[in-house]
Amino acid sequence: MLSNTKIFDFKNTFSSLGNSFYTEIAPTQVESPSIVKFNYDLADELGLKIKNINTNILANFFSGNHIAKDSKPLAMVYAGHQFGHFVPQLGDGRAILLGEIIDKSSSRRDIQLKGSGITPYSRQGDGRAALGPVIREYIISEAMNSLGISTTRSLSIVSTGEPVYREKILPGAILTRVAYGHIRTGTFQYFAARGNFKAVKTLFDYTIKRHFPEILKSKNPYISFLEKVMDKYAELVAKWMQVGFIHGVMNTDNMAITCETIDYGPCAFMDNFEKTKVFSSIDQFGRYSYGNQPSIAQWNLARLAETLIPLIDTSSNTAIKLATNVVESFTERFKNYWLNGMRRKIGLFNEEFEDDYLIESLLEIMHENKTDFTITFRRLSNAVLNKEKENQLKKLFYNSINFENWFLKWQNRLSLEGKKQKEIINLMKSVNPSVIPRNHLVEKAISAAELNGDYSFLENLLKALANPFDEKDENDRYVTSPKPEEVVLKTFCGT
Ligand code: AMP
Ligand code: MG
Repeated sequence: MLSNTKIFDFKNTFSSLGNSFYTEIAPTQVESPSIVKFNYDLADELGLKIKNINTNILANFFSGNHIAKDSKPLAMVYAGHQFGHFVPQLGDGRAILLGEIIDKSSSRRDIQLKGSGITPYSRQGDGRAALGPVIREYIISEAMNSLGISTTRSLSIVSTGEPVYREKILPGAILTRVAYGHIRTGTFQYFAARGNFKAVKTLFDYTIKRHFPEILKSKNPYISFLEKVMDKYAELVAKWMQVGFIHGVMNTDNMAITCETIDYGPCAFMDNFEKTKVFSSIDQFGRYSYGNQPSIAQWNLARLAETLIPLIDTSSNTAIKLATNVVESFTERFKNYWLNGMRRKIGLFNEEFEDDYLIESLLEIMHENKTDFTITFRRLSNAVLNKEKENQLKKLFYNSINFENWFLKWQNRLSLEGKKQKEIINLMKSVNPSVIPRNHLVEKAISAAELNGDYSFLENLLKALANPFDEKDENDRYVTSPKPEEVVLKTFCGT
């Protein structure tokens, strides 16, 4: 139903690309939409006009039952490598882009419904989303944002009042996702795979105008674009790994060109550190394990580069050489982001040649002792100036001699810098979160909502996650690692 109520002020541009890039399609109406979570802070950042609008009207808009007059709902087409295999035809199978708005900082943002019904790209899917995975995406994406990691955002959760049929019957929900952009590596692949380089060029021109205007005038904008994406992606993946995050499905259709973390499926934060950790039930061979993420990111970048070869240079040899250089430089770039971030995590301000070894040996000892990733770094921050806290930290490592030795080396390295202890602690506490969305907490929030319609745990968890670097007594229950019976071993896409 079209509505005159003006919540959004859509200024759409993607829809001007023409219908080879999308299918115009309205969301499928739902039975009885009701807002179960609304992100008023984000709505304010976006400049939405929701003052004096009651939640029934919001529920109608954010379920897709009401469509604003200037919205032009559409499903985007894309392709993608899923677990290494190319699928030439994917697309928004259960998402619909309502349009773009200009936020309060003058940035263009996509407003998209996820779980809003069947589109031409739904394949065997029902176009719907279950409440559990929607809550999961809401919690984790908002937590990532508070951790300072680039991500799509979550504006609202609407329960649809309709069942969705998975292995069991589950309550249905719709998430409103907000992103700087939804163009994916897979969007480029869709056209390149068809040999339609005119469309690749159209998409490229649109992408740089919207997302990378600073390279419009560069000598070879295609190479500059690849360099930008390479750099942003290296930074993103390093940041994920520095908080123990595993995306879980780094398919090329789940790689946004803006390098916002997107498509939260079976993703998870690890509790105890394990380099080869995998949670996703569909990742049988550990392709997307914690430690594989940088090499997969580089592989994905190579897939993006391939789509631009005919545009980079008239000589394909030259084009391949230029693109390969950029893709190869990912290794070094990632290492820089990784090392710089890890240095901060252990309180170092300056670079020394041995830092790499110091960091890697800590991770090895953590792995050996199965210590909790988040707690280790937080206790390390506290141990800088407090003997009692130092003992607490050492207990985590069962007072192992390896850790004792490491600790001494670390103390020596710190003393070389000549920084005040307070400065060191402040640095460490600004990068080592205390509260993260641990799996068992996410599961608890989901089951309370699913089973009893109780959203109080979700609300409290979200409050704690909004300030992840604060240490507050009332957050204690979110800070500890799970009890053995609470440990989550597998996560599911829930699609
Ligand atoms: P994902 O693995 O979640 O990134 O999804 C891969 C593809 O499957 C995308 O094209 C999605 O739009 C589509 N898809 C996932 N779940 C559903 C669903 N329930 N109904 C229709 N399409 C879906
Ligand atoms: Mg996806």
